[in-house]
Amino acid sequence: MSKIEDVDIIIGTDNKSKILDYINEYRLTNKKLNKVKNIMTVREFEEMEIDHYQDKTRAFLKIQDGCDRFCSYCLIPFARGPVRSKRFETIIEEVKNLLKMVIRKLYYQEYMLLHMGKTLAM
Ligand code: SF4
Repeated sequence: MSKIEDVDIIIGTDNKSKILDYINEYRLTNKKLNKVKNIMTVREFEEMEIDHYQDKTRAFLKIQDGCDRFCSYCLIPFARGPVRSKRFETIIEEVKNLLKMVIRKLYYQEYMLLHMGKTLAM
């Protein structure tokens, strides 16, 4: 993909919160960036706090990422990496903040809810 002329920045499924930094880096250096790393080595849930929700009554809150099951037909474990969970304290804080933003319905977003908290010290 990096050989495609019009592709300037390549990122993986990790470090999505750094997209603006990558764009700024590209603007400053004018050099193509490849920020893809081995997702299988990622162990921390990437915190991306929601600080603004406009004109919505429903919100999505991602609380878990990755999968360790490796079902034969599925690429999720290879694309998303191992199971990682958002910290419970952070979930509670974000739910409180979303409720302040007049959110009436909240959806928890995850791949493997049964694995929620697996990577956290309980
Ligand atoms: S995401 Fe679901 S289907 Fe895919 S490997 Fe995990 S358990 Fe299997």
